Amino acid sequence: MIRKLISRVFSGKKPAANRHEPAVIPVSSHGITRDRISSGSRRTCETLQQHGYKAYVVGGAVRDLLIGAEPKDFDVATDATPEQVRHCFRRSRIIGRRFQIVHVMMGQETIEVTTFRGALDANTKKDEHGRVLHDNVFGTQAEDAARRDFTANALYYDPATEAVLDYHHGVGDLKAKTLRMIGEPRARYREDPVRMLRAVRLAAKLGLQIDPEARKPIRDMADLLENVPPARLFDEMLKLLTSGFSVKCLTQLRDEGLHHGLLPLLDVILEQPMGEKFVMLALANTDDRVRRGKGTSPSFLFATLLWHEVLAHWEKLLAEGQLKIPALYQAMDHVLDVQGEKLAITRRITGDIKELWALQPRFEQRAGKRPYALLEQPRFRAAYDFLVLRAQAGEIDMEIADWWTRFQNVEGDKRGEMLLPEQPGDKKKRRRRKKKPAAGPSASE
Ligand code: ATP
Ligand code: MG
Repeated sequence: MIRKLISRVFSGKKPAANRHEPAVIPVSSHGITRDRISSGSRRTCETLQQHGYKAYVVGGAVRDLLIGAEPKDFDVATDATPEQVRHCFRRSRIIGRRFQIVHVMMGQETIEVTTFRGALDANTKKDEHGRVLHDNVFGTQAEDAARRDFTANALYYDPATEAVLDYHHGVGDLKAKTLRMIGEPRARYREDPVRMLRAVRLAAKLGLQIDPEARKPIRDMADLLENVPPARLFDEMLKLLTSGFSVKCLTQLRDEGLHHGLLPLLDVILEQPMGEKFVMLALANTDDRVRRGKGTSPSFLFATLLWHEVLAHWEKLLAEGQLKIPALYQAMDHVLDVQGEKLAITRRITGDIKELWALQPRFEQRAGKRPYALLEQPRFRAAYDFLVLRAQAGEIDMEIADWWTRFQNVEGDKRGEMLLPEQPGDKKKRRRRKKKPAAGPSASE
């Protein structure tokens, strides 16, 4: 112990408590040369510095470069106020009301420039659970660093010197593959419960271990997520599900007891053997697409996550004697209503999800003109992908999915040969629907 203390004094290292002076890590040590950052963010920093301000590339980009990952975007932090930033760039605009940031347009790039944020104090507005409501005070760079969530996210890269300023030992933590919270984890989760989700997402995406101090309280504090505005949860869930590591994220969410508050029905889904298989297949599919740089659609994702809840409710209504299609619509509305309370799935996405679900029973109809009408649906491709997933998960016969795969691909005149014979009841049903086209997916036929 004494030897440790002496060696620390003589090594010249600052004691851990003094966080105001950052460690300055030279390029010779971290290896990130300025050509590794986007030209837009480099030029933004240069211009701000020419005007006498501090300016750094900050946050996720520096972290990702240090571990050899491709950054999603390059954000800049500065001591210039938003107004001052505005005056440095012709193509820029201030956005946001509560905490203003500036979007600087550089060629094709839009760089987000944020003014250093100040420390929270007694005047900071919080709700009754301690969640910070207004966080809009400017501050020093050291305060800005302390306001960030994880040590690895509090790194500032100066393109002029190519040095990394490290206020909280983030570089060392990254080397040790540790995601460590800045400050006392319980207090930081109370200020903003979304940090629990960020911990899981970043750890899964970056292959880091959440430091035990930050990991332990999550299970106890998971309920605080109930208090987060649904729109914020939706954004965060979307980030998580489209991170390219959603399977890992979801597995870890469950391990940490975090899935309950998010999608209130997700825990139920994952406990049904069929539901779990389906969700995991869908997510693995999405991860694969993201990693290959292909787009993903939020509506498809949420439609898969909630499908087995719809199925369960639909079956219940059918057992009560309701008609097939009206029961499906009622089940869809029910599931989306329950979700909507927790997760603000936007109206546009909700519409797309419903369309995807409502098209599913129509794949069963493989006689007459109906298959042709289904092919013409604008959302046919997504609905077909959904059908294939259902078949792969064992919910429906693979033969149906295979039939549709062939039906799309054969020459037009061969399609007729594939059609199944009309069932005796089919025509009658169609006539009845024509008279009264109000409900059901076939209303548009
Ligand atoms: P990603 O790779 O998903 O973009 P990121 O860490 O860059 O990850 P952003 O949401 O882009 O995430 O946030 C940028 C930076 O802002 C973070 O690196 C972190 O320093 C800070 N930050 C974001 N959210 C929070 C939060 N809830 N609490 C504290 N700091 C945050
Ligand atoms: Mg980012």
